[in-house]
Amino acid sequence: MKANCWMGRNTVEVREVPDPRILNSRDAVVRVTSSAICGSDLHLYDGHIPTMEKGDILGHEFMGEVVEVGPKVSTLKVGDRVVVPFPIACGDCTSCRHGMYSVCENSNPNAGMAEKLMGHAPAGVFGYSHMLGGYPGGQAQYARVPFADVGPIKIEDDLPDEKVLFLSDILPTGWMGAEMCDIKPGDTIAVWGAGPVGQFAVASAYLMGAERVVAIDRFPYRLETAERAGAESLNYEEVDVLDALRDMTAGRGPDACIDAVGMEAHCPVPAMYAYDRVKQAARLETERPYALREAILACRNGGIVSVIGVYGGVVDKFPMGSLMNRSLTLRSGQCHVQRYLKPLLGKIRKGDIDPSFVISHRMRLEDAPRGYEMFKNKLDDCNKVVLTP
Ligand SMILES: [Zn+2]
Ligand SMILES: [Zn+2]
Repeated sequence: MKANCWMGRNTVEVREVPDPRILNSRDAVVRVTSSAICGSDLHLYDGHIPTMEKGDILGHEFMGEVVEVGPKVSTLKVGDRVVVPFPIACGDCTSCRHGMYSVCENSNPNAGMAEKLMGHAPAGVFGYSHMLGGYPGGQAQYARVPFADVGPIKIEDDLPDEKVLFLSDILPTGWMGAEMCDIKPGDTIAVWGAGPVGQFAVASAYLMGAERVVAIDRFPYRLETAERAGAESLNYEEVDVLDALRDMTAGRGPDACIDAVGMEAHCPVPAMYAYDRVKQAARLETERPYALREAILACRNGGIVSVIGVYGGVVDKFPMGSLMNRSLTLRSGQCHVQRYLKPLLGKIRKGDIDPSFVISHRMRLEDAPRGYEMFKNKLDDCNKVVLTP
């Protein structure tokens, strides 16, 4: 089959690779009908996530048709149409039983690698480094889905791929980012990063009853998308975000702040940017956490900072004093996608949200290298790329 493979920094290549097979009794093999390129794929592309190997198949956002099931998968049959969540979860361990699927204790065969960096290991993830299990991803014609009796959700009606594909990651991730804010009527929520996840966080915050949502980014096309969803917008290259948020909230700050940016944030202050770039290049820190620092400083006393942007290792100049002295709550996590599949599919069916609005480019799988380059450099207002084999 054809698959999009990581070949080193800033290089992906569509190559001919062996078809996946059933390896365990709870596996299924899916013929991929749609996959997507994610902002967190760019962290791999940029070479910031350790334990990638040449030839690794990328892609953790995909859906398709079941073509083979293992003997212990009773919930799916050949021909079913499914969306596959990005965290791989067994459904039986203590974490899974508590709904914490992205920290499943049984799905990461390379847990030891992750433990060295993180203390304990998170779940395995499709197409996301050997530290996270080394599972081949879904930017391919076929994919093997472990624990297929737990993760995939069947799409039994005629909803098109584009409306349901993002159940695999970015829609539930944006939703969980808003949910962690414990939104109450009248709340103001600020969202750093108006990419697809930020856009879904904006939409989710309104659905949960936020009165005002402020989106922060530097790309006008992304800010305009957030405005169309009802958000106010701040371009951090034009205004001082902390001042502007203070002015908008009678000096108090937003009730909750969502970091939908993560480890590769840009920074309008050149000295600060240079500082982090140098430390990152020297592997003295792995992240450039400007959005996170700003979200903490901006948040009102006693408020919540919700982190859904991806981080990989350690950060520098973390404003712990602000967090502690001002009674802030920091919440975070890779999305526990399995928890949200049914309720969010229900909202899509009812028409409360149509996630396809984030798609800017549709390409063939063979064009994945061009898709990565366009998305990385935000060429042609690239917001979200969907690949079809
Ligand atoms: Zn993703
Ligand atoms: Zn588990």
